[in-house]
Amino acid sequence: MGKYRFEEEEHELFRKSLKKFLEKEAVPQYDQWEKDHIIPKSFWKRMGEMGFLCPQVEEQYGGLGLDFRYAVIIGEEMERVGTSLTGVGLHNDITVPYIEAYGTDEQKQRWLPGCVTGEYITAIAMTEPGAGSDLANISTTAVRDGDNYIVNGQKTFITNGINSTHVVVVVKTDPKAEPKHRGISLLMIEEGIPGFTKGRKLDKVGLHAQDTSELYFEDCVVPAANLIGDENKGFTYLMEKLQQERLVVAIAAQTASEDMLETTLDYVKSRKAFGKPIGSFQNSQFKLVEMATEIELGHSFLESLIEDHMAGKDIVSKVSMAKYWLTDTAKKIAGECMQLHGGYGYMEEYKIARRYRDTPVAAIYAGSNEIMKTIIAKRMGL
Ligand SMILES: Cc1cc2nc3c(=O)[nH]c(=O)nc-3n(C[C@H](O)[C@H](O)[C@H](O)COP(=O)(O)OP(=O)(O)OC[C@H]3O[C@@H](n4cnc5c(N)ncnc54)[C@H](O)[C@@H]3O)c2cc1C
Repeated sequence: MGKYRFEEEEHELFRKSLKKFLEKEAVPQYDQWEKDHIIPKSFWKRMGEMGFLCPQVEEQYGGLGLDFRYAVIIGEEMERVGTSLTGVGLHNDITVPYIEAYGTDEQKQRWLPGCVTGEYITAIAMTEPGAGSDLANISTTAVRDGDNYIVNGQKTFITNGINSTHVVVVVKTDPKAEPKHRGISLLMIEEGIPGFTKGRKLDKVGLHAQDTSELYFEDCVVPAANLIGDENKGFTYLMEKLQQERLVVAIAAQTASEDMLETTLDYVKSRKAFGKPIGSFQNSQFKLVEMATEIELGHSFLESLIEDHMAGKDIVSKVSMAKYWLTDTAKKIAGECMQLHGGYGYMEEYKIARRYRDTPVAAIYAGSNEIMKTIIAKRMGL
């Protein structure tokens, strides 16, 4: 796929150096990470050393002050290596922005430099066993007690759960609030605080190297100084920042689709049946043409969406459309590309098999695709 029209020479150079870094430090190790079910912290540190962690952070807090175009490049190149690297995007573009946007100067000084070097790895804990899509219905509580909050509850499906040193935890600070979302706050809970334990690393269908886990809080004493933003405004902060989360997921899905098409094009040109390349059959051609068309449409849609996001426009409806459509498209492309590989597509040594396992989750997380449609419908006045 061609580059986006907003990419300039410095972006190309950045992409080149990131690609080179990943080819040496991620691609050869990736299969082992998938077997280990975790990406080592040493990789995070190397990413930090190279300036690939949170490059948007202001220079005074250790970052490079770069714009969202660099996040797009990092998202794409990480996804090309494999979807399990999604935890880096979550750290860079989803969790750390809460500190940047709503943290005090003291909090920024305390946390941001470590997030940039990779000494700190962040996670965001919204989902609970009893509340996923219905986020306002969470039951983890944070009760104010002098200079602290006492936190009790459980979170699940948390990306970077095991590796994380700092977790933005969505808590109920006013369980009686009506409507319920008005009683929600964001608390930074650091590894090592008594009462905070990590549960098991969850055994997933895909994203094997991604350390998704449960988190437990039992009479966990968290300094009130760790409250991010104002008390009971957490839901508003989430609604603001979830837009970029959905955009990042949409960009990854688009990249996955492009990668699957490229892989499959190579395959159908070399594999033969009935004395002819698989790619010479009309059915194969039509399938591949349909995929290429959807990928072109996705690229144009994303291009204007990224520009709107960078211009600070309201992207709620369009980003919800992009998130649902691009992730559904990637899921469909995964199935069709596997089919075009025949039996080999079902073998683990072929990349398409891993993509087939990794792709469907994007339709579920970051707000399920059904929830995306409810947002769009509401904005259509329905
Ligand atoms: C690999 C992975 C990583 C994740 N990472 C994180 C993370 O880092 N942090 C975090 O907080 N969470 C994370 N999640 C959780 C994820 O965001 C939730 O799984 C998701 O929001 C759906 O919630 P749920 O699983 O409780 O499903 P439910 O809310 O129980 O939904 C079940 C089904 O019902 C549908 N549904 C629900 N409500 C409606 C409605 N109103 N209208 C129509 N259909 C509806 C859903 O779309 C879905 O199909 C992760 C999940 C996975 C699988």
